[in-house]
Amino acid sequence: MSAASLAELLSQRQPCVVLTGAGISTESGIPDFRSATGIWAEVDPFEVASIEAFRRDPERVWRFYRRRIQTLLAAEPNDGHRAIAELERRGLVQAVVTQNIDTLHGRAGSREVVEVHGSIRTAECLRCLWSQGTDDVLAQLEGHPAPLCLHCGEVLKPGVTLFGELLPAGAMERATALARGAALVLVVGSSLEVWPVAGLPLEARAVAIVNRGPTALDDRAELRIDAPAGETLSAVIAAL
Ligand SMILES: [Zn+2]
Repeated sequence: MSAASLAELLSQRQPCVVLTGAGISTESGIPDFRSATGIWAEVDPFEVASIEAFRRDPERVWRFYRRRIQTLLAAEPNDGHRAIAELERRGLVQAVVTQNIDTLHGRAGSREVVEVHGSIRTAECLRCLWSQGTDDVLAQLEGHPAPLCLHCGEVLKPGVTLFGELLPAGAMERATALARGAALVLVVGSSLEVWPVAGLPLEARAVAIVNRGPTALDDRAELRIDAPAGETLSAVIAAL
């Protein structure tokens, strides 16, 4: 299956919604979660990235997230992010639904981005619902083990969805509506293992997949390309 076939499919099946996962950002040097060299091979997510861990020991969770936020802010968008933004500019992509918290789609120029697992852009107060920007949070972390809410003094929670938390309701509703209205969901860099996001492509009339390695929906995909996102999507742009 070639990039030319994907370019043809994109031209024919409109509207198209893109769904991205960690695999698109590995080409920006950001480790994924579940592979042998992924983040969860190093640390136990339930110790550093679950809502139980946050309630038990928020300082430990913030030690993990402080480093993670710094890593993500230092990363740059890659050809895959840029190609998706270009497809949106050309009217061939309606929106990007992403499981990534790294904000790289927005920084690459994508305008319609639905972050279904939250993002590192803010931290939030579970008591009064105040949310605070990352710059302020990192500044607080210079001198304190965990950032505090400026309104009520409660420890802030990272603005990402932790294990054991529900996904942000508004983002999930928007993502579902986009998928239902789509003629094509193009999955990029996700093995589609994390529900409920993994079920979104099934809401659309057709699914295409660009991912290294197998995914849970391979047998439902109209087209599947097992290759890196950057080179594949750049080739799609060239073929249009
Ligand atoms: Zn508060």
